[in-house]
Amino acid sequence: MRNTGSQEVLTPETVGPALLEDVRDVEVIDVHTHLLPPSHGKLMLWGIDELLTYHYLVSEYFMVAPAEITHELFFAKTKLEQSDLVWQGLFVERSPISEACQGVITTLQRLGLERQVADRDLRGIRAWFAQQSLDEHVENIFRLAKVRYAVMTNIPYVEEEAQHWQPEAKPVTSRLRKALRIDNFLKGDWASICEALKKEGLDETMDGAKEYLRKWAGIYKPEYMMASTPHDWRYPEPAAAASMKPLVKAYAGFGASELLEEAVVPVCEELSLPIALKLGAWRGMSPDLDPCCGGDGVASADVASLQALCAKFPKVKFLVTVLSRANQHELTVVCQKTRNLHLYGCWWYCNNPSIIEELTKMRTEMLGTAYTAQHSDCRVLEQLLYKWDHSRQIIGEALVICLTGPPWICFPLSPPCACALLSAPSEERLAPHSRGAQTRLAAAAGRLLRGIHGPVSCKRLRRP
Ligand SMILES: [Zn+2]
Repeated sequence: MRNTGSQEVLTPETVGPALLEDVRDVEVIDVHTHLLPPSHGKLMLWGIDELLTYHYLVSEYFMVAPAEITHELFFAKTKLEQSDLVWQGLFVERSPISEACQGVITTLQRLGLERQVADRDLRGIRAWFAQQSLDEHVENIFRLAKVRYAVMTNIPYVEEEAQHWQPEAKPVTSRLRKALRIDNFLKGDWASICEALKKEGLDETMDGAKEYLRKWAGIYKPEYMMASTPHDWRYPEPAAAASMKPLVKAYAGFGASELLEEAVVPVCEELSLPIALKLGAWRGMSPDLDPCCGGDGVASADVASLQALCAKFPKVKFLVTVLSRANQHELTVVCQKTRNLHLYGCWWYCNNPSIIEELTKMRTEMLGTAYTAQHSDCRVLEQLLYKWDHSRQIIGEALVICLTGPPWICFPLSPPCACALLSAPSEERLAPHSRGAQTRLAAAAGRLLRGIHGPVSCKRLRRP
């Protein structure tokens, strides 16, 4: 960011390049990823073979794979063999032009591997990754991607993850922060919650469920609780659960709305934690692709349910992103009217250049800078490079159009809008309504603004 403390005056000719530069250079906060720290061993995904077997690419590969390569056959192979097939099918036999393929190319170029890419030298690329020292590599990627820190997704009821947190928590780099994932609560999956409670020696009751959330919030010290809801999620839940006979209900346990109202919300209020929701993934639409996490489709979500939830619990801060392009306009309107709702990112099937551009323009037109433009949703460390590079370019260009289109605007960049959309206010907006936490996080956001951008002062633009 330019020195906004100076008296420099931008003109219509210079504001565009200045804004593109700001968006390219601002240090972002990545509010949702699936990255994990090196201390979590094989759960931390990094390197070329993980990049090539990212589920976007595996799904794409199956559209062109020879008929004899069945899903069963592919997933029975080693990671290395799978990666060979994807490389051959999408990068050697075809031009890598999809966004996911381009992402691999951008990533490798950013790591200085242009020659190996030009030669299609997968062995050379593997050799480069094998030489990296992991801790340094992590730091290098965050620095190159200009990501201050990323929020992980931490799932307490997955044993292979939980073992890294208790009895003793393994060290976590300061580049990663935590989020407590609680999909089974939003799904109303009482059976799996009971299993988790049993493992922790807690009562299989609503109080036990609350204790479970408190306990894991204590272990993670998360930025928020989060869930990706079922595609047909409704709030309040349709009458079925409510009308069940008592005996049936006792067997079925609690429904999603009850768990939300009586466990999740009270604990979030108590601990001043926001709730982040991801709406519109149709889980397991194509089960053949589930082994690589690529089997989900998209469904139009019920935005009215989200609005009802926010209205019912005005003291809780909700963060939301939706998967369906069809929901985006309605959601943006709801965000504009709902103080405790904050919109973030272009998720998965919306994380394509054409849709990011469209959404950024619409959101800026309707919300100004009161939203968080992007999150990466990375599963593999090095994806931070391409996901942010590509998004910065598109967001920057969309903002230039918003800021320089008629009528000529006279007071941009105060506070700097690149920072507003990609960094500091995201952190501030993670803060719940609770005063203490809000002050603490707002102060952090202020520090972030000052630290990166120098003192912020109003800079006026003149018409030429
Ligand atoms: Zn995700």
